[in-house]
Amino acid sequence: MQLQFLITSEQRASGAMFMESLNDTVLAFIYPTDGRRTFHTFFCPPMRIIALGADGQVVFDEVITKWRWVKLPVCRYVIETGPKVDYRPYLQTVLSVAPDLPQLGSMDPSLRMDSLLFALLAEAVADIRRIRDAHRGEVRPEIQRHRFEAWERGQIVSSAGFLLDFSRAWNLPDGAVKLSYSVLKAEEPYLDEIVAASVAGIPWRHEFPNHCMRCGKSASWRPILNPTPNAPVEILWRYQRPENAIPICHHCTETLNLLRDESLQLDLVWGLWGPRFEAFWAWHRARKNNRLPRDWDMYAHPLWPWEFGGESWESGSGALRFAEPRPPHQVIRDEQHMQALRRGLYSKKFRGRQPGETPLQKLLDFRLDILQGEPR
Ligand SMILES: [Zn+2]
Repeated sequence: MQLQFLITSEQRASGAMFMESLNDTVLAFIYPTDGRRTFHTFFCPPMRIIALGADGQVVFDEVITKWRWVKLPVCRYVIETGPKVDYRPYLQTVLSVAPDLPQLGSMDPSLRMDSLLFALLAEAVADIRRIRDAHRGEVRPEIQRHRFEAWERGQIVSSAGFLLDFSRAWNLPDGAVKLSYSVLKAEEPYLDEIVAASVAGIPWRHEFPNHCMRCGKSASWRPILNPTPNAPVEILWRYQRPENAIPICHHCTETLNLLRDESLQLDLVWGLWGPRFEAFWAWHRARKNNRLPRDWDMYAHPLWPWEFGGESWESGSGALRFAEPRPPHQVIRDEQHMQALRRGLYSKKFRGRQPGETPLQKLLDFRLDILQGEPR
């Protein structure tokens, strides 16, 4: 067993970070005064944290296995050690030696940081940790491209950018800074698409209603248009958008012979999403024919170029502030769209009770609470 004192703010800041395991090491954090302290366990192995008052009274004693922020009560000394290590034999040494140690760096950096910044940093560090776990060393683009969804990659590069900005003002662990650089470098060719995906390509199925638009029974959202086989993984998220999907149950899929009837599929998705499907379809076609506008600004219009949709969400805009997935509530439908819906829904007779338009109406009325015009 090995007892180490961490006295300067620099020593205390790195603590057990990047240690594979604490084994039987006992780290003693010595502060000149009592105070509430926030510890983090990012980049640290599982550990036991013990906080002590000036007289040696234990005020906190917990084993922390996950990476997180740990708020400690008012204390003078903090001990970090392996989860199973008995620190008590060292307690007397810590208490007797501490007052004689030089008192340096009495400023505790964590106390000056705002809690929102804490939360952002925690999130960013957690993202970078996933990179470290996935790559084990050097960041390889092919692993990045196949291990993570495009929207996750977008969030990871945002976190990397945030950490690099942050590292100008604060001492961050070297590993985190290096990883941030190499992630940005590896993702450079795909930045536009994955940053667009980080807002517009996030999963939505678990939040949306999943009643069959024809009969109301439980259903799943089925995508309609498919990407070309050679499409790069970075653009696939657009085909997963709700505007390219309809909720339909197995039974209705069979009854309508939907899988073999392409025009019926198009009627249903077009009728349900109106101008929003039209805009998606315009993107799909332009991409297939290599005719996407050269000046498409994906940061302002992540979904599709501005000329493919209207000015508002309801009329098919692909602008950033309308990019978060939403159910088809308030889509603007004209007579053509209504006809397409009717063609799809009533082309075959219902067996038993005729459910009428109730399930569809329920779906169309469903809304998520989305703040109008507030980009995230
Ligand atoms: Zn159904």
